[in-house]
Amino acid sequence: MSNKRQHQPGDGDATEPATDAEVTRPRSLYDATGAQLAAVLAGEPAYRVKQLWAGLYEQCKALDDITTLSAPLRAKLNEELPTSLLLVRESASDKGDTIKFLWRLADGDHPIETVLMHYADRVTVCVSTQAGCAMACGFCATGQAGFSRQLTVGEIVEQVVRASRHAKQRKQRVANVVFMGMGEPLANEPAVWSAIERFHGDMGISARHLTVSTVGIVPGIRTLANRPLPVNLAVSLHAARNELRDDLVPINKRYPLEELMTACRDYLRVKNRRISFEWAMIAGVNDSARDASELAKLALSLKPTAHVNLIPLNPTPGFATRGTDAAGVRRFADRLTDRGVNATIRRNRGTDIDAACGQLAAGQPVVLTGRRSV
Ligand code: SAH
Repeated sequence: MSNKRQHQPGDGDATEPATDAEVTRPRSLYDATGAQLAAVLAGEPAYRVKQLWAGLYEQCKALDDITTLSAPLRAKLNEELPTSLLLVRESASDKGDTIKFLWRLADGDHPIETVLMHYADRVTVCVSTQAGCAMACGFCATGQAGFSRQLTVGEIVEQVVRASRHAKQRKQRVANVVFMGMGEPLANEPAVWSAIERFHGDMGISARHLTVSTVGIVPGIRTLANRPLPVNLAVSLHAARNELRDDLVPINKRYPLEELMTACRDYLRVKNRRISFEWAMIAGVNDSARDASELAKLALSLKPTAHVNLIPLNPTPGFATRGTDAAGVRRFADRLTDRGVNATIRRNRGTDIDAACGQLAAGQPVVLTGRRSV
């Protein structure tokens, strides 16, 4: 997408050359580009597409509530371009400030989850990018459940649109999207990128409020670096030496720390946006003075220094080791701060409804073969 020309409906998909099949048959309402919606509305004046696009993405309305379109037109759109997500359950915690949506994808029973978080100063949506995940990090419930399939652009976008609609009922607007739900965003980069363009260009969410979190897929980081918007990059580090990281984050065997740090440095050079490191605190595994010192060294090797997000480990069915206790997390944070590294401790949201970091499994059974400790 060029920054020079005016944004047009459907630009979200413009970087991917559409095949003939896509032009004639998008998978769902939110997968459709402006041109594809225009094809369904053929014979109508051109401003109808604009009205529809604004209704869908600026106002986040359900199709039936976009009354600038006639009832027969809405019926036609409903028929030809169904939505993708069927709501199975909505659960709330933190006095209603955290809401988890469990959806079923229209093509089968692949369950996925989305989390909407209301804070005093902002509203954030945590979005899934895959049904399940193939990265197999032992301490993460999604990794324990395994991979089902990639999500389409429309399935990613619809999660944010529907969560935004929910937030609007409280007169609040979603201003942040974090790609930290189920799945590995950079293993589904083209769809994730098209969704980013939709959030940025059509829903008015600024690039600095969009965060892609990755286990460290080096080619994906490089692809993202070549995309035009300066979105935030968060790297799920969890260990700062290869021997331990190989164990906690198995993809490290393919993309070891040296390569990962080089990709981070390159991303920084191009985007000039501070990178953050995520670190789930696992008792006796990655919370020692040595770990803090190794982590500080990696954080300080980036300019500007990486910001560290410490996440108290949330319980998951397939991982027996406990999280570091609160005092231990504090001590670890202080060790980082003493070395000049900014560290924050992530407030846990929605643990009672399994909506917190690493707990999203959408009710799927997890692999319990030999409860792993590390
Ligand atoms: N696959 C991407 C996106 C998921 S983000 C990634 O890993 O970055 C979810 C974040 O929660 C990641 O940092 C992940 O490592 C972390 N996480 C996973 N399991 C966790 C758990 N049990 N407790 C706390 N954090 C966890």
